[in-house]
Amino acid sequence: MKIVILGAGGMGSRFGLMLKKAGKDVTLLDGWDKNIEAIREHGIRANYNGEEVQVDIDIYPIDDFAPDLKADLLIVFTKAMQLEDAIQATRSIVTDQTKVLCLMNGIGYDDILRKYFDDEQIVLGNTMWTAGLEGPGRPKLFGNGYVNLLNLGKSEEAAAAAKDIVALLDEVGLNGVYEKEIFYLIYKKVCVNATMNGLCTILECNMADLGDAQASHDLINQLVKEVVDVANAEGVEMDLDEMIEHVGECFNRETIGGHFPSMYQDLITNKRLTEIDYINGAVAKKGKKLNVPTPYNQFLTSLVHTKEQLLGAK
Ligand code: NAD
Repeated sequence: MKIVILGAGGMGSRFGLMLKKAGKDVTLLDGWDKNIEAIREHGIRANYNGEEVQVDIDIYPIDDFAPDLKADLLIVFTKAMQLEDAIQATRSIVTDQTKVLCLMNGIGYDDILRKYFDDEQIVLGNTMWTAGLEGPGRPKLFGNGYVNLLNLGKSEEAAAAAKDIVALLDEVGLNGVYEKEIFYLIYKKVCVNATMNGLCTILECNMADLGDAQASHDLINQLVKEVVDVANAEGVEMDLDEMIEHVGECFNRETIGGHFPSMYQDLITNKRLTEIDYINGAVAKKGKKLNVPTPYNQFLTSLVHTKEQLLGAK
């Protein structure tokens, strides 16, 4: 099986490294020149749970790869706002047989992917694996995780193909789970991302400090309520109290509370544009369509965009 990973940042490198280490045929496509150069020269050099792990792996620019490159499985791990351009630049690697796996944070990817691929090809999910980047070609990969996924296509073939992907992920240690309630799980993760990412970025704090500031709790509860209202209006059943409790787990200093969310790292640390339009912005957009008020999500989206401009993010 030929696996192509579109986007070789933290997560693309994690999946690439773990698949390649297990002997799979993997090619990376990326749009960041320094990253491509570093991986071509030294392979992926990962800080893997504190140990240096090196894996040689093929990598090409998204607009300059062998014309006969075809993917059986395409895993997309760009940033949200890079996804459509990256898909358009790499259309030739997708055949009718290609399955496309999207595990990116946020909502609305099904709408983007459906513009380019048939439902029968699309596998949607999310992942509890994490990854950071210490520099080009240098991912920092700590901890454990798993992947939840489900085929969008309704046929038995689509379900069988998704289960094959689960088996592949299991085989290489990425821990796949075939999950019928995938949209519930996607919205559950959005509850965390729609609160911790934007607020920690605007307020420049980690999640435990955000939780200690009692005044933040009303804000957080309102943001979560809007996500739950939108999900419910879309037919994805969610319970507000359960989601508020779930988000509250992020405040625990003993576990993950000391962590600065990835949006903080993108904007405050690296002056990069954020995925806010695919998290709070997407909630607000869906809210508008479904007639569900989402003023807190809309306001936070505008605040983050303002901060992007103030910091000259690119
Ligand atoms: P990333 O920013 O590390 O990489 C995404 C793309 O940006 C890659 O093509 C990469 O080469 C490029 N890039 C990275 N740093 C750059 C820089 N300094 N200059 C120019 N280009 C750069 O993103 P990621 O963390 O791999 O996330 C990919 C997707 O997966 C996102 O949707 C994210 O929300 C989601 N996700 C991330 C994590 C995580 O822990 N990182 C966990 C779950 C889901």
